[in-house]
Amino acid sequence: MRTFLLLSAAFVAVFGLEVFESDQVLRILPKNEEQISLLQDLTEMDQLQLDIWKEPAHPSLPVDIHVPFRSLPTVKAFLEASEIQYYVMIADLQAVIDEEKHAMQSPRFVEPRNTDSFDYASYHTLNEINAFMDMLVAENPNLVTKLQIGSSYEKRPLYVLKFSSGPNRPGFWIDTGIHSREWVTQASGIWFAKKIVTDYGRDPALTAILNKMDILLEIVTNPDGFHFTHASNRMWRKTRKPNPGSACVGVDPNRNWDAGFGGAGASSNPCSETYRGPSAHSEPEVKAIVDYVKSHGNIKGFISIHSYSQMLLYPYGYTRTPVPDQPELHDLARRAISNLASLYGTKYTYGSIITTIYQASGGTIDWTYNQGVKYSYTFELRDTGRYGFLLPASQIIPTAQETWLAVMTIMEHTKDNLY
Ligand SMILES: [Zn+2]
Repeated sequence: MRTFLLLSAAFVAVFGLEVFESDQVLRILPKNEEQISLLQDLTEMDQLQLDIWKEPAHPSLPVDIHVPFRSLPTVKAFLEASEIQYYVMIADLQAVIDEEKHAMQSPRFVEPRNTDSFDYASYHTLNEINAFMDMLVAENPNLVTKLQIGSSYEKRPLYVLKFSSGPNRPGFWIDTGIHSREWVTQASGIWFAKKIVTDYGRDPALTAILNKMDILLEIVTNPDGFHFTHASNRMWRKTRKPNPGSACVGVDPNRNWDAGFGGAGASSNPCSETYRGPSAHSEPEVKAIVDYVKSHGNIKGFISIHSYSQMLLYPYGYTRTPVPDQPELHDLARRAISNLASLYGTKYTYGSIITTIYQASGGTIDWTYNQGVKYSYTFELRDTGRYGFLLPASQIIPTAQETWLAVMTIMEHTKDNLY
């Protein structure tokens, strides 16, 4: 096994790109707690090198696992022997990745000269997104500035776009892409940025929001991971900091916050996709936001955007104790997803993290809520699993449009209820 790992690491080093030829994504349908617990045992077998897309949580929720080709016989035999239902959701992962790559490299793609000619319906590299941000700032010098709130482990700047129409305003934060493989989130962040500059002064609702609050938007929240998804491994989720004593790299930046850190619902295994890290805020990408939120001191809303599952969630994830603002947050979530569905009928579920998905400790919005940011939410965007993290680019704009309706609902409510 060790030899295989070393060989596959050497392959990546020489050829640069990890391939997932004949790997499959299985959708598994556990029907009771016993099967959930069997699946949890399965996902902890490091030697199978499973990539968990949706963790075993509750008998009502499917489990999605990307299984490397060589582990398929073992996993399928395990599921069949345990009489756990499953089906193949993606029959050849590499084929779907190739399709996505082909669309990005299509000859129709020309370098945009301004944000009007930018291709919002395609996925983009980090350099392209950085160029987009600079164009947006240059075109809207009175509304948009680019802040650098820190640097990633690999020394990439952590940029935040600040949309502001006046001094000393409360802030409303939105981040996308903290999990780097969730590409529809960064793509939606780009679309949101353009939508804000387009609507300011034209759309009364957005104008009223920006006349009372600044919007702070971090599009590429995990730039090292994002670069890695383009350069080496499309399925990379975590940060890229090495873990001393382990061959496995990276920390789950959504388990690294100082809110129930180290509790159930995060892993202490550096090879896990939900590895919490050596200590709270150990990751510079997380620490930069922590420092920014604290020094700002007046953030009133905070939305952290993930994919996939079509859910709108509020705190807590680390404890079953409901937040004091639960009734208000619940009602606002209900209105937000109903507005979201009004556009294309996309159905979301909603509720607190722990009741809607599973216990998760060290999560972003538990920390922001405990810092006094009442309107703290997490989105899980499209889809419900057909493509998972590999959502076709044709769905970027519809996803961003519908999500924006929900984001606007939350921002308007925040603006009307400044505290
Ligand atoms: Zn995520």
